[in-house]
Amino acid sequence: MSVVLVTGAGQGIGRSIALRLAADGHDIALVDINDKIDSVAEEVREKGRAATTFTADVSDRAQVFAAVEHAHNELGGFDVMINNAGIAQVAPLDDVRPEDTKKIWAVNVDGVLWGIQAAAAKFKALECKGKIVNASSIAGHDGFAMLGVYSATKFAVRALTQAAAKEYASHGITVNAYCPGVVGTDMWVTIDKRFAELTGAAEGETYDKFVGGIALGRAQTPEDVAAFVSYLAGPDSDYMTGQAPLIDGGLVFR
Ligand code: NAD
Repeated sequence: MSVVLVTGAGQGIGRSIALRLAADGHDIALVDINDKIDSVAEEVREKGRAATTFTADVSDRAQVFAAVEHAHNELGGFDVMINNAGIAQVAPLDDVRPEDTKKIWAVNVDGVLWGIQAAAAKFKALECKGKIVNASSIAGHDGFAMLGVYSATKFAVRALTQAAAKEYASHGITVNAYCPGVVGTDMWVTIDKRFAELTGAAEGETYDKFVGGIALGRAQTPEDVAAFVSYLAGPDSDYMTGQAPLIDGGLVFR
């Protein structure tokens, strides 16, 4: 039995990761900025695992450290940190202003860094060979038009993943990332609407266009992502660190 903390666990990919890891036999600490985590906690308990919730904004370092402390106190251990919370931003580079970069950087990059720090500190204190798993993206391997700053944040997550893997290897801590493609969550509803506003595309058209480029011929489900995170959070990935593999149905090839 081990304890996993998932950020952004209230919906979408984070919710699916929480449920998959509960099915795998982990106890789950669910963290999000809103109270959607309460119903996900119930779903975790229905799978026979313990769950606890903690409301935190991942861009606030103290709140992230408090979330890890809460998970340890409530669930009696701390083994895996999933830094999943993230936000999208659709804008041509010409339109981006300082307040825009500040906001997305605070959540997608600083939020992951605080999660890495908080988890590593707890793993070291517990002398636990823990695992840290971060959300990057296809946009962490390829800079997408209209998603330039979002792409920059996801490239940055790969950089942090590599550096953290090197810094913590001597403690037996591994750090990896997952890079999903086009997943049918609220995030994509927002991206598609914003593309429609900016380009005049019909609603749904951008999403369909992206999905049309996927070799396996369908959009990704949150469960597709969770299945890979299950591997990254479990013992089969013990010899892997500093990696950020694409799990996208065949969209970006590296
Ligand atoms: P989503 O918008 O459906 O859910 C994100 C969750 O994170 C929400 O519950 C939200 O409340 C929470 N969150 C947002 N800001 C937060 C903050 N500051 N502190 C705490 N929680 C916060 O998104 P999703 O599609 O489930 O994406 C999850 C992760 O996967 C993100 O990092 C995203 O960038 C990445 N990703 C998504 C896709 C996709 O196609 N949906 C593709 C590649 C990568």
